Amino acid sequence: MQNLIDLTKNDLESFVVEDLKLPRFRAEQVWQWLWQKRVRSIEGMTNLSKPLREKLAEMAIISWPEIAQIRKSKDGTIKFLLKLKDGKLVETVLIPMRDRYSQCLSTQVGCAMGCTFCNTGLLGFERNLTYGEIMGQILVGRQYLEDHGMNPLKNLVFMGMGEPLLNLDNLLKVLHDLPCERGLALSWRRSVVSTVGFPDKLKILGDLEVALPAISLHAPTQELRAKIMPKAAKVHLNDLMAAIKTYPMRQRERVTFEYLLLKDVNDSLEQADQLARLVDRRKGKINLIAYNAVEGMPYDTPDRAKVEAFEQRLWDHGLTATIRRSMGADIEAACGQLKAKDKS
Ligand code: SF4
Repeated sequence: MQNLIDLTKNDLESFVVEDLKLPRFRAEQVWQWLWQKRVRSIEGMTNLSKPLREKLAEMAIISWPEIAQIRKSKDGTIKFLLKLKDGKLVETVLIPMRDRYSQCLSTQVGCAMGCTFCNTGLLGFERNLTYGEIMGQILVGRQYLEDHGMNPLKNLVFMGMGEPLLNLDNLLKVLHDLPCERGLALSWRRSVVSTVGFPDKLKILGDLEVALPAISLHAPTQELRAKIMPKAAKVHLNDLMAAIKTYPMRQRERVTFEYLLLKDVNDSLEQADQLARLVDRRKGKINLIAYNAVEGMPYDTPDRAKVEAFEQRLWDHGLTATIRRSMGADIEAACGQLKAKDKS
């Protein structure tokens, strides 16, 4: 049985025209039911005739990722643990912004990058998520917001479990279909792909102009990056920064550099100076995140005063820097924590 949400817009068209022998406009109708109206059964596609729905139901189903757990934080963050068809678990998080929500999406089950501060990295890599499993997270998020009369979903960040650029084929299919007006209608200019950075893959993303990157930098020198992100640092920092320099951006667009502050590891003023020398202030901005200490992990939460001094030092160098609120600390919203708990 074909799960319809696993088909890209183009694949759905082929399925409807070639396999079902139906005219092309039927594919548009089915697409709209799936992604705009978020129907959960073929029976619900009421502008298709009954015989047509029956024909479709003989060959296809609609199956969303199943919600295994929902946790709500005091700050409004909502975290879902989703169960996939093979029983694997992934997370997606809804993050409240002023008048809208942003959704953090997973792209892999586990992650091969093994960053030393990350729970998902500790779990190791299991498999890539399919197109439908990535898009299905958005269906779950949107439906939840609508069912609860909450603000709409407007932004996406590919920053959940996994390294998005190591699932590039499926990521590109998702980014291609997001803006479709009769579908999710989410502008890719509001989508950010968070990556440790692979120059060749960033080039593909940039050439296609389908998303803006956020680079998980976390260290201002190659040496320190190699210690805390040993696999990511196989790409030398100089090569990574050179790739960012040539990333095509429109006026006033800037690449975000994520910098997780780890107590006494990368939070000194000297390191802020090094960071400022690395990032071009006209093309980049810095997102500082204070690490939330997690049991069993080798890092501590930095002192608040040090975090603020670090931020100020970057501003003194003319850089735009913001301290990201550490959302959902009370529900373990850091990458991979909910899943890690579920396993134990
Ligand atoms: Fe993978 Fe991101 Fe975790 Fe690194 S921080 S191990 S890239 S999920």
